[in-house]
Amino acid sequence: VPHDALGVGIGWCGPAVLQHGSEDQQERLLPGLLRGDEIWCQMFSEPGAGSDLAGLKTRATPDGDEWVLNGQKTWTTFAQHSDWGLCIARHDADLPKHRGLSAFIVDMAADGVECRPVKQMTGSQNFNEVFLTDVRVSDDNRIGDVGEGWGVVITTFLWERINLLAGGERILGGLQEFIGSRGQHASPEIRDRLVDLYVRAEVIRFSTMRLLTAVSGGGLPGPEGSTLKLMSTSTLSDIYELALDAMGPEAMLSPDVAPGHGEWHAGFLGMPGLRVGGGTDQIQRNIIGDRVLGLPPDIRVDKDLPFREVPGA
Ligand SMILES: Cc1cc2nc3c(=O)[nH]c(=O)nc-3n(C[C@H](O)[C@H](O)[C@H](O)COP(=O)(O)OP(=O)(O)OC[C@H]3O[C@@H](n4cnc5c(N)ncnc54)[C@H](O)[C@@H]3O)c2cc1C
Repeated sequence: VPHDALGVGIGWCGPAVLQHGSEDQQERLLPGLLRGDEIWCQMFSEPGAGSDLAGLKTRATPDGDEWVLNGQKTWTTFAQHSDWGLCIARHDADLPKHRGLSAFIVDMAADGVECRPVKQMTGSQNFNEVFLTDVRVSDDNRIGDVGEGWGVVITTFLWERINLLAGGERILGGLQEFIGSRGQHASPEIRDRLVDLYVRAEVIRFSTMRLLTAVSGGGLPGPEGSTLKLMSTSTLSDIYELALDAMGPEAMLSPDVAPGHGEWHAGFLGMPGLRVGGGTDQIQRNIIGDRVLGLPPDIRVDKDLPFREVPGA
């Protein structure tokens, strides 16, 4: 199991349960997560619903004190290792798309849950397609009220954006050591780029601390999480690019024999994914334009239509 598999649960699914779950659910679900005994995944995206997540089609049909889930999720990080999945499904297609959603905790070992890992260009298999066929979920595992699914999505994303890229200064520290070990720290160009990265990493570190202080009283992170995500992804991209530039022609070696034993190559190849996961760069800019700068919001012609009348629903 990859060492970072606990991040999805502790970093963003757990806070969503804290915010929206009942006391019983918090007592039942959170200790195993915090002890590292249980791994969680986030089952939101679908083949036709990524940026426009509220257009998702997985159905939740009530049946006594249970729900029956049917549909397909995709890009589900670490689903193949997970014990629990935080899943958003549509309980009512007659409501507008954001209002007909509910959140559930799915036992990933339940009958009808099938994970198919997807191979990435880094060679790893972190993502999965997850097929849900008549998966039964007890109503005790519904997080929040019926119809509160979109609120759970927003909470999860807000925490994901500030946790996804935590630790940038540690990676930069590793780069400084790597460059020092190659005797390149005297190069004026490399020094310039390192100083620029150091300043940006410090701005991110202090901004994150300010945000965490603001939410430590129990509030939610706001749209500043989008600013942090944009700053973090561009800074991390530049860190990995400098590592590969510093290697010169050796960067073309296959990762197992290249300097750094492939660590910098894996980071570099993983960066396009980080600019997409948790909401793409473009979506972060939309949020900043709309909620911080007060610009006219994105046009959403289907926002108030009953979901079943939305073309392609
Ligand atoms: C590393 C990684 C990990 C992930 N992990 C998970 C996970 O664990 N669970 C999960 O549920 N999902 C996960 N995802 C999926 C991720 O949330 C989606 O890929 C993301 O939301 C984008 O959706 P999409 O891929 O369908 O792209 P689309 O939504 O189809 O977007 C395609 C392009 O159009 C642009 N675009 C779309 N709408 C707009 C708009 N309104 N304005 C401007 N531009 C727009 C986008 O920015 C993008 O460039 C992960 C993805 C990655 C890369």
